[in-house]
Amino acid sequence: MGIVRCLSPAGAPINLSVRAGALTLIEENVRPTTFTFDDAGRLLSAFVDGRTYRRSLANDVLEKTAGPRPGLSHRSRRLLERDEVERLEQRAYQFAADVAGWLAAEAARDKRPDSVHDRNRALEALARVATYSFARLEQERETFRAIYGRVPIMPPDQYMALALQATEGCSFNACRFCGFYRDRRFRVKSPDEFRQHIARVKAFLGRGLSLRRSIFLGDANALLLPQPALMAVFDALHEAFAFEPARDAKSDRPCMAGVYSFIDAFSTARKSRDDFAHLAERGLRRVYVGLETGDAALLKFLGKPNTPQDVADLTRRLKQAGVSVGVIVLIGAGGRAFAAQHVANTIELAREMPLDAGDVVYLSELIDYPGSEYAEAAAQAGIEPLSVEEIEEQMRAMRAALRRPARAGPLISYYDVREFVY
Ligand code: SF4
Repeated sequence: MGIVRCLSPAGAPINLSVRAGALTLIEENVRPTTFTFDDAGRLLSAFVDGRTYRRSLANDVLEKTAGPRPGLSHRSRRLLERDEVERLEQRAYQFAADVAGWLAAEAARDKRPDSVHDRNRALEALARVATYSFARLEQERETFRAIYGRVPIMPPDQYMALALQATEGCSFNACRFCGFYRDRRFRVKSPDEFRQHIARVKAFLGRGLSLRRSIFLGDANALLLPQPALMAVFDALHEAFAFEPARDAKSDRPCMAGVYSFIDAFSTARKSRDDFAHLAERGLRRVYVGLETGDAALLKFLGKPNTPQDVADLTRRLKQAGVSVGVIVLIGAGGRAFAAQHVANTIELAREMPLDAGDVVYLSELIDYPGSEYAEAAAQAGIEPLSVEEIEEQMRAMRAALRRPARAGPLISYYDVREFVY
């Protein structure tokens, strides 16, 4: 990574961080301002006036601000209105154009050989940024929708992955608390259609692909495909990408760290350890399974068609096959009525699972979507939701109980679905 510096005409120091796949412009001020662009020139994120912004490929922008107290449940988040998106992007691209001018002036003054290389890289990256504008990003919004429809959710460690949809939607789509795929009919792409999808995604991202280091195979449960169909999906991935550690010096296929995907414990019940081992050989690195709770009665109330023990069995087969696991626990599920048994039985089951340092347990607050069946069923059953403080307390209790000495157990992390944009 190279850092290049210049000054604005007002004397404010500007740092440019030029790294593989991204360019970050930082204005060092009393209130620092930061804009990050991908290698094609698309705005990715910003930090302005103490607020953090993340832009999606569909040109939506999520704004995050610290809440009145520390803790994820207190933080506030909202999607910007279209006119606000336009203002933010105009500001980012105007700032990048200004920095390009200041840096070019500096280059004309300072010809020292040690500063030329990084500065030229920064100027080249800024020239690519200059090809973008709010209008072009709005056009890309349409292209993105034509290719993907939507990418409703991905796990937190895969937010920057390359999303590829071998299937669309969720084959079950009936868990009471989940509204991610309600507007999407479940559909399996044919091998040819999936190959075309990959080609369109690559063409769409262009140089921006260099920032994407792994593949997220969507949507909700693509791994339910029968094994021959799944192997065909992995064949298509290998035609389009190289996978670590086998770098492919002769080809220009982008190199990816591996394949990641959601999985459920009911539609893949018949997949054996050997099936998973074959997928691991083809690059499957980690799958993410919604345990939700270790309490069987609560899981039934949530509308999941499997038992907690099914998740433990699935985890065992995956781990034996060499595939890492991300286990998602729903904090606040079942409100006050289920709180004690939810915490106790989830901790007990998670401790039984063969999770190690390569795995993650995600603590994810249950977020009701508008008109959810969960809210209606909870109200009918007289279940009171947890307060924000009680949610934070349940997070702390689960975290404390599941944490093991360093490198002996899984990472315990947070997963806030309100912070996802793609
Ligand atoms: S929780 Fe998973 S299985 Fe249930 S509806 Fe949502 S995506 Fe489908």
